[in-house]
Formats: sequence, structure tokens, C-alpha cells
Amino acid sequence: MANFEFWNDGNTPLHPASAPDFVPRPQMEQMQLHRLQVMVRRAYENVPLFRGRCEERKVTPDDVKSLADIARLPFSVKSDLRDTYPYGLFASPLDDVVRIHASSGTTGKPIVVGYTKGDLEVWENVITRSLAAIGVRRGDVLHNAYGYGMFTGGLGLHNAQAMGVTVIPVGGGNTERQIMLLRDLGITVISCTPSYFLHILDEAAKVGLDFHSLPLKYGIFGAEPWTEEMRQRIEEASGIKAYDIYGLTEIIGPGVAMECTAQSGMHIFEDHFYPEVVDPETGEVLPDGETGELILTTLSKAATPMIRYRTRDITWLNREVCACGRTLRRIMRVSARSDDMLIIRGVNVFPSQIEAALMQVDAAAPHYQIIVTRENDLDRMEIEVEIRPEHASDEIKQMEALRLRMSQAIERITNIRAKVTLVQPNSLARSEGKAKRVKDLR
Ligand code: ADP
Ligand code: ZN
Repeated sequence: MANFEFWNDGNTPLHPASAPDFVPRPQMEQMQLHRLQVMVRRAYENVPLFRGRCEERKVTPDDVKSLADIARLPFSVKSDLRDTYPYGLFASPLDDVVRIHASSGTTGKPIVVGYTKGDLEVWENVITRSLAAIGVRRGDVLHNAYGYGMFTGGLGLHNAQAMGVTVIPVGGGNTERQIMLLRDLGITVISCTPSYFLHILDEAAKVGLDFHSLPLKYGIFGAEPWTEEMRQRIEEASGIKAYDIYGLTEIIGPGVAMECTAQSGMHIFEDHFYPEVVDPETGEVLPDGETGELILTTLSKAATPMIRYRTRDITWLNREVCACGRTLRRIMRVSARSDDMLIIRGVNVFPSQIEAALMQVDAAAPHYQIIVTRENDLDRMEIEVEIRPEHASDEIKQMEALRLRMSQAIERITNIRAKVTLVQPNSLARSEGKAKRVKDLR
């Protein structure tokens, strides 16, 4: 039985907000059902789009008698937020809304979500529990390099101050200054996208700063897919523990799920977010353990409740009790977003597979770009990858051998032959937020 009063060193008191992480499943499910019923009724009574869809399917909030009944409810999708822009999905009057965020999103109108005071408290609660799960405590100093503004990353992690952490709201950009702060301010935790952290590491190396000499202990990385191989690279290069955090604007922002010290999947804060995994083609609910599209339902959000939101993220749910004692189910690494899937000559390829293949070759730097073109009706995939500075002056023959090893690794993992081009260190564009690794020119 989990000891949820103390951190797993047995001595450090656990942040009190973390108690729901350890409740027995039946108790959790009872709470979820109750909250689900309230949430469905709230959406039904206040959101015409949801009510209309329920009426089409002839379901009412009274039909939700068990958690399994959730499958009777209609899905919601990203375009619902666009089509009802800006406030069509709000279930609270603007009087009660104290914050608006928007998805950093793609083209056209952003998607806009709202938070009541209570919603902000929920966010604070899940971020606090996220940080507690990796051992962050009062007294830690957080360098928050997620972008501030309408993007949820910055103000999301900023909630760390509620547990007594010293938050430095650095935001994105001005990497030189970031490095100075990391050197000077006794920073113990950093949060940003994994790709931006790699950039910070490169720039630090240029000015001779070795991260192993800093007090920095933990990295909280998310907002974009990254691989286990990338984690290894980051941990080796910096001497910190790199943890995965997951979230999306539509649901609340970062803090929907977070890894614990076991580093084997991200615990979903199930008392606030109800997860399902469905077959992305048929929408049929899959049993835990099977891979499919993650669907999330908010269980406590007042301003913009989401019922069965299709995240497009591909993962699976693990219900085994974790080594850390948490009973919360885990989503296993979100390796891909179904929108990011490339179809190359009829074969499905995810950028994360390319990343995993490249990272098997030591000489490859963790900076790459995937370019897809079509010539004479044939798809071609070219990978530009930076070589590590130590290899920049290798002989042509050695370079050829490296190239070959990379394209073989890619073919082993994806069954696709790709052209690999080695490029000089620091020649590919860097991002301060989410990396854009694919150029599909078809
Ligand atoms: P946008 O939709 O504009 O990218 P968000 O910041 O809301 O804005 O992005 C949320 C999405 O980012 C998720 O649906 C998911 O695809 C991706 N994401 C967030 N965290 C992770 C993570 N830890 N691993 C993989 N993908 C992630
Ligand atoms: Zn755990």
C-alpha cells in the first residue's frame, strides 16, 4: 500500500495536494463518475453545440449512469472551437471568467479557452502535483523558459510558485541571457520544450559552460513529442533528470499528465481529466493497454468544459500501479500526433521514428529536419541532420560511413529508404518553442 504522506525517500513530507494521486481505484472511479455527471449536465445546459449533438444521438445527461456510459456521448474536436470562435463553447458567463488563453496553433483564427477562478485553482493543483511527483520542493528555483502570453506553457508552469518554489519567469528567447541566469541564480529546475533545451545546451557549450557544474537537477520538458533516445542524450549532456510533461490548451494546458521519478509514463491527473483511448478510425473505445487516439474529458473545468475531446495524440493507457505508488493511470510517451503522420509511398512514418533512428548513431547531433517532396509521382524523403562538432572535420570516407549507418537505421525502423544529408553543426534553424521538424513540400 502506498505511503502517500511522505515522499519516496520516506522522510520528506509530500505536498498535501498530492493525496488524490494515491487513492484506491474504486474511490477514484466513484469520484470520476460523480464529476462526470455534473460536467455533462453543465455542458448540456450551457453549450448549444453539445446539447444539439446529444439530441441527435438521443442521449441526455441522465443516461450517464456509469463511467462506461461516457461512450454514448458525442466527441468534440478542434474545429468545434474554431467554428464557435470565440466564446461559443463557454459554459460560464464572461463575468466569471478571469483568464483567457489561446492555442499557439496553426493557421487562421486561434482557439480560445477560458478559466474561472476555480479553473485556475485546478491548474495550480495539477502543476503542483506534477512537480511534487519528480521531487521538486519549496526551496527549489525554477527557470521557466516556456513562452508567456496566451500560450499556456509559461503561465501554466508559473503555478509552481503556489508550492513555495521560486519561479523565474524567463520566457522564451535571448538564449545568451538565459545562460547567464542559469550560471548565476542557483537554478535547480528548468522548464521548456526539449528542443529549446538542446539549443540552450549548444549555446552554453560555445561559451564553455558545462551543465554538470550547475546546481540544476531537473528538467520539465513537453509541449512537443520527443523520444526516449532524446531523453538519454539530454541527460548525458547535462547531468540532469529529464521529465516529460503533457497537456493541451483545450483541456487546461500543461499539467494534464506528468512523469514521476520512475520515468515510465505520465500519470494523468484523473480526478480532473478522464482519459479514454479509441480507435482513431472507428472511434471505438479500446481496452487499457491498446494504442490509439487519446480522448480527454474535463471533470472539473467550469468555463470551457470539454467532453470527449479528440486530442489526435497517439498513446496507450497503463493501469498498473506504478513503482512510485501512484494509482493514477499513465499515458505512455506520446510519440506522435496523428496529424503529424507522414505517408511516404503508402507507408506511415512518424517523425519520432526518424528521431529514434538518428539518435542510435552517436555522431548525429539531436538537430534534424525532414523534407518530403514528390518527383514523378514518387514521394521522396530527405533527412538533413547535423553532425556533432567533434565529427565536423571527419574525412569524407568516415562521413559516408556515418550517412550509411543513419539511413540503415531509418530503414530498419520505418521500412523507408531516405536520403540522409549531413550538415555542419549549428546550420539548421533552432526554435525557442515547439520545433518544426517536418517540411512537407508535396
Ligand atoms: P497547439 O495545438 O497550438 O500546438 P498546445 O500547446 O495546446 O497548442 O499543444 C498541445 C499539443 O502539444 C498536444 O496535443 C500534443 O500534441 C503536444 N504535446 C504536448 N505535450 C507533449 C508531450 N509531452 N509529448 C508529446 N506531445 C506533446
Ligand atoms: Zn509513478
